[in-house]
Amino acid sequence: MIKVVVIGSSSMDLVVTSTKRPGAGETVLGESFKTVPGGKGANQAVAAARLGANVTMIGRVGNDHYGKEILENFKQNHVSVDCVEPVTDMESGTAHIVLAEGDNSIVVVKGANDYVTPDYVKRAANKIKQANIVLIQQEIPEETVEFVSELCNDYNVPLLLNPAPARPLSQQVIDRAAYITPNEHEAVVLFNGLSTKEALKKYPNKVFITEGKQGVRYYDGTKEVLVPSYTVEAVDTTGAGDTFNAGLAVALAEGKSIEDSLRFANRAASLSVTKFGAQGGMPMRKEVEETL
Ligand code: ATP
Repeated sequence: MIKVVVIGSSSMDLVVTSTKRPGAGETVLGESFKTVPGGKGANQAVAAARLGANVTMIGRVGNDHYGKEILENFKQNHVSVDCVEPVTDMESGTAHIVLAEGDNSIVVVKGANDYVTPDYVKRAANKIKQANIVLIQQEIPEETVEFVSELCNDYNVPLLLNPAPARPLSQQVIDRAAYITPNEHEAVVLFNGLSTKEALKKYPNKVFITEGKQGVRYYDGTKEVLVPSYTVEAVDTTGAGDTFNAGLAVALAEGKSIEDSLRFANRAASLSVTKFGAQGGMPMRKEVEETL
């Protein structure tokens, strides 16, 4: 079993559905409420575990009720929580989501995720050293992403950086990462001044730009390649990107070619959009292999 270390956020999503979105100072009656575990780091860890990897999460939760539920969810999905420590007197990360009028409005409170600091990650350096691949996103402090890229370089462990949500990155981090997976919007922020074509060509076999149901685009050294996704009945695309990244990390770490890895990631991500919720639709390895 390949070892994947995920360094990132975990949170609880508090989801309300309502026919009307409240305006300033207004109170409306909602229709339903549910809590579902989320956070890009946690989503990617769960997806990678379902896809057959041995996964260690490096993250933080609050010392509140949500923190316990988040840890329980990791355990149910066979993600190791040895490196997920509660932060004293701090709440867990939360996302407050209102689904109304065919769209969503979201307020994110980072909470304990701000405590995924370089010093905290350093304590888990041994796990990183032994990993086949490390997966990181940007819902944790910028200096941590910087630090992890340095550590992975020193240990010669490939780093897959999913630059979401969008924020500019230092050239050093871009250079140190083995793979970078922006969506189209994130690519604009990341490669400020370069067109998609130019950015892909500058980083052959390294930058993979996801294009939703179209699939994913990269430059193979001689030409631009679009690896198409699979046609499915989309129910909820939340978490498609997270499943894609987990699938890509697992396949690359297993030694699959880039094109086969992207196909595997597309298949996993396309299956994930056929069910509700970020983690709800994340497929098991068997489902992906049977439908590839
Ligand atoms: P999100 O933030 O919604 O999780 P994202 O914006 O990070 O996603 P996308 O480019 O939308 O990333 O999607 C990532 C991958 O998921 C795509 O490359 C594709 O493989 C798959 N995917 C997304 N939407 C669909 C869809 N409707 N049908 C099939 N595959 C999809």
